[in-house]
Amino acid sequence: MSTVLRAQGLTKRFGGFVAVDDVNLSIREGSIHALIGPNGAGKTTCFNLLTKFLQPTTGQILFRDRDITRLEPAEVARLGIIRSFQISAVFGSLTAGENLLMALQRPTALPNCFWRSSSVLLSLEDRAREVARTVNLHGYFDRPAGELSYGRKRALEIATTIALEPQVMLLDEPMAGMGLEDVAVVADVIREAARDKTVVMVEHNLKVVKDLCERVTVLQRGQVLVEGGYDEISENAQVRSAYMGSEQ
Ligand code: ADP
Repeated sequence: MSTVLRAQGLTKRFGGFVAVDDVNLSIREGSIHALIGPNGAGKTTCFNLLTKFLQPTTGQILFRDRDITRLEPAEVARLGIIRSFQISAVFGSLTAGENLLMALQRPTALPNCFWRSSSVLLSLEDRAREVARTVNLHGYFDRPAGELSYGRKRALEIATTIALEPQVMLLDEPMAGMGLEDVAVVADVIREAARDKTVVMVEHNLKVVKDLCERVTVLQRGQVLVEGGYDEISENAQVRSAYMGSEQ
């Protein structure tokens, strides 16, 4: 399987403090890849570096072998490396459909105002309905987003990212604070999205990681402790004692 996104020797210093320290990451095309590790391990900083919201101190980022280390965040987004927006980006008084229509009209989405599907040009609304169907929200298209369950709000938030047609979608704790039912809703959305795109997600719930993610990178104090499939990383003694607790 080819590598879609690669970080080589990625390092970020804040003054004298090294938040991300010589990290190598290799994200496989079409995979769901988890980034785990305790608070302060450097996961969010890695996301900010990959999406260029932060400039690395040293190191290189490659997207399908193109060096994107010096690109601006908007250029990286145009290439299709897109980070999910926070839940506050979902407008509760607008319907789910209106939220999607707004997402489709963001500057990064504008070149794709119309989509060709089976030789038919789809209007913005048709495209919004299509995205809603992808995340199982078609039955809620005309409902105010504020009335949706927490899980469906997160699904809508992810859908506003899917609307931008990402190649690589980065999700920062998409299941945070959710009950089992909502976790299942969002897991289905991520699985569906990963049919034709790559997903990188920060996730604390190891059961979710085990069920959903083909690859896992464990960060510790800014460095990669271990990377591999769930079974591989869970064999690592340090991972077991530091992160798994009752999951062992
Ligand atoms: P995680 O997402 O794994 O919890 P972060 O990437 O948020 O970790 O943070 C890694 C470390 O870098 C933490 O110790 C944090 O305090 C530090 N850090 C993050 N951003 C900054 C910043 N802008 N200035 C100084 N230190 C920062």
